[in-house]
Amino acid sequence: MPLNSTSLTSPPAPVLMEHCCRQPWETYMEPIKMAPGVWYISGNDWVACYLIDTGDGLILIDTAMHETCYLMIENIRKLGYELTDIKKILLSHAHGDHIGAARTMKELTGAKLYLGERDHFFLTERRDLIFCDGYTCGEFEPDEFYADDKPITQGNVTIHTVSTPGHTPGCTSFFFEVTDKDGKTYKCGMHGGLGLLWNSKKAFKEIGLPSSLMYEFVDGLKKLDKFDVDITLPSHTNQVGILLLKDQVTEDFNPYYDPSIWHELMQERLERAEKILKKFEEEEDC
Ligand SMILES: [Zn+2]
Repeated sequence: MPLNSTSLTSPPAPVLMEHCCRQPWETYMEPIKMAPGVWYISGNDWVACYLIDTGDGLILIDTAMHETCYLMIENIRKLGYELTDIKKILLSHAHGDHIGAARTMKELTGAKLYLGERDHFFLTERRDLIFCDGYTCGEFEPDEFYADDKPITQGNVTIHTVSTPGHTPGCTSFFFEVTDKDGKTYKCGMHGGLGLLWNSKKAFKEIGLPSSLMYEFVDGLKKLDKFDVDITLPSHTNQVGILLLKDQVTEDFNPYYDPSIWHELMQERLERAEKILKKFEEEEDC
């Protein structure tokens, strides 16, 4: 039962962010093996970062906060890697809980940094939209923007990106396959940002983002629901109960292998988003 309802009952994001940034040691989470060569590595128990061993260097998905970065670095070394083994860093979207340590990790690894192009103006013109809430988020420039028709390959792993605007305009989702020692292949998938932050036309207008993001978000969920995913990688631990299952992981057993979870998650979020969309469409234009 990896799906749970913690996303509906857990404290709001700013509270969790504050806890991670002010008392990072209380949120420490050791590496969790999610799939062959894939680890939950962020070092905290709220924001996911994934480390992928490609056989020829590592890919890091998201960096979490600057304040928790030392815990992630500890985890990377605990697994026997060096920071310079990281060759590519893929950012899901330009919010502080995912990119707070991007500058730091780029400096320490020399990796190539990727971001969705439509989030670039967060870095240059609208840093208020990064929602760093006063915490550290070093300035950086991505080396490359995603193009969905140009998969990103490192070693024997190829990551297909899918633009999924909504949570942010440049929010990007990731899909890739990994193979175990017996040659069995697993499809891994991560939605880049599963929540809608604004749910009325007025709110979109006030924040200065197009309300069309609402429709793009719903379309993205419908599109991604058609994908087959064996192992769902949540971008936050409150989307899928991965922490509840971590003690079941062994060399030969992976509790995260469950092709139904992805669809359950997409359907759950779609149901919520469509309710919001219905109200949104009944609103007066503003
Ligand atoms: Zn976010």
